[in-house]
Amino acid sequence: MTQVPDISNKLYINNAFVDSVSKKTFPTINPATGQIIAEVSEAQEEDVDLAVAAAKKAFARRSPWRQMDASERGKLITKFADLIERDAQYLSELETLNSGKPLEAVKAELKAYVNVLKYYAGYCDKIYGNTIPVDGTGFCVTKKEPIGVVAQIIPWNYPIGMAVWKLGPALCTGCTLILKPAEQTPLTALVLAALSKEAGFPAGVINILPGYGPIAGEALCLHNDVGKVAFTGSTDIGHKILEYSAKSNLKRVSLELGGKSPLVIFDDADLDEAVNIAHTAIFENHGQNCCAGSRTFVQAGIYEQFVKKATEKAKNRKVGDPFESNVLQGPQIDQPSLDKILRIVEESKKQGAKLETGGSRIGDKGFFVEPTVFSNVTDDMSCAVNEIFGPVQTILKFNTLDEVIERANNTTYGLAGGVVTKNINNALVFANALQAGSVWINCYDYITPQTPFGGYKKSGFGKDLGADSLDDYLATKTINVLLPVKN
Ligand code: NAD
Repeated sequence: MTQVPDISNKLYINNAFVDSVSKKTFPTINPATGQIIAEVSEAQEEDVDLAVAAAKKAFARRSPWRQMDASERGKLITKFADLIERDAQYLSELETLNSGKPLEAVKAELKAYVNVLKYYAGYCDKIYGNTIPVDGTGFCVTKKEPIGVVAQIIPWNYPIGMAVWKLGPALCTGCTLILKPAEQTPLTALVLAALSKEAGFPAGVINILPGYGPIAGEALCLHNDVGKVAFTGSTDIGHKILEYSAKSNLKRVSLELGGKSPLVIFDDADLDEAVNIAHTAIFENHGQNCCAGSRTFVQAGIYEQFVKKATEKAKNRKVGDPFESNVLQGPQIDQPSLDKILRIVEESKKQGAKLETGGSRIGDKGFFVEPTVFSNVTDDMSCAVNEIFGPVQTILKFNTLDEVIERANNTTYGLAGGVVTKNINNALVFANALQAGSVWINCYDYITPQTPFGGYKKSGFGKDLGADSLDDYLATKTINVLLPVKN
């Protein structure tokens, strides 16, 4: 039985685990059973004020963090990564308990997150500006400076992953931060807090505030001492984050939002390989993936065979207790999520989509949904338009490259997309034409620490991962000296 950490009913502010000022708590549940795992401390506006003050102090001139060499910051981040690796088994179990993600998948993901932190650790002392050949007798250099206090708000679908993706660039650039995990999955973030303390980060550099979006999240986004918000979540809330910035201090904002990503299969593709890529693209993490391949476009010549094989594969997907080793799909995160999936399934059936398999809840305990496949889907149906965030494969038919490019782009989102073909010209024309931040050719979800990730259009702006992510945490300062002569 996985032990819930004894810090689960605390906030983490200024390197201390403390009660919320109001002493209020909220329950966190196990989505596999619907039962309460623990009562978690709930941050409210006054706790946000305390955490922001701690982060501000940690960023002040001459503070230990501001005096630290960049290479030393890198060593601290490496130590943090090593501690996560040391406690990987426990962190994975706790993540599975709180999120319903299969344990084996979490363990594999965790290795990737350790590598993300190590990537950022190596980058700390490689951030620098330019010397610029200005007109006249000036001598000009630019510096890259950390923004300062950063608020980071993350969702529940990859709780450790999203935390690490956000912590990495903020710590690498020398910012201080307050991270708010999703209300559904606060537990592993608190363990990360404990490990960061053990690693030795100075007080106030990392603060973790479990709590609700419209309360703690809003207070963070409206705070005038916060210089930037890094947000991952839904497009609806993304709109609000920009409003908060406009209403307060025009803080910088980066938004990683939703998606309705197309995966295009041409009829020259290896059929079995294409079926496997498309299956993983949508069913990975129970469809709770912002870049899920949630519109599978299949060329007419192989459409019927593809649907048959894809359906067979979905029927064989093992759903159940996420702690069991051969289980690939656990429960959805919560009741609203389950209700939304089932509503879109019903709407799509009424609109004429053909339900090949699945479509129902499994049992009445926890939030399990059958792996579901729809064929004969048209672009206007609910399952082709809405972000379902569930295990629902939506298979559409197309004929030509130009047609599929137009249809793939016919969405308000632009997070990612993929193409499976042996024809390199078709693959690259598609990749160039797709209005999306990531395109995968003959693969899907190929994400590494080095690769910038983030959307176009209503999937947001700004990047996670890669060197590009650092820009969002840095300001460029131009320093000009007027010399008496040019040379
Ligand atoms: P959500 O927007 O409801 O919540 C995300 C986070 O925002 C949570 O921490 C929540 O507490 C907080 N929040 C909610 N209301 C807020 C407010 N008014 N002010 C400040 N913070 C607030 O999203 P969700 O349903 O939890 O997550 C799923 C969504 O996240 C999907 O749309 C998915 O596509 C998206 N997502 C995107 C990426 C990406 O990298 N682009 C990654 C994962 C998830």
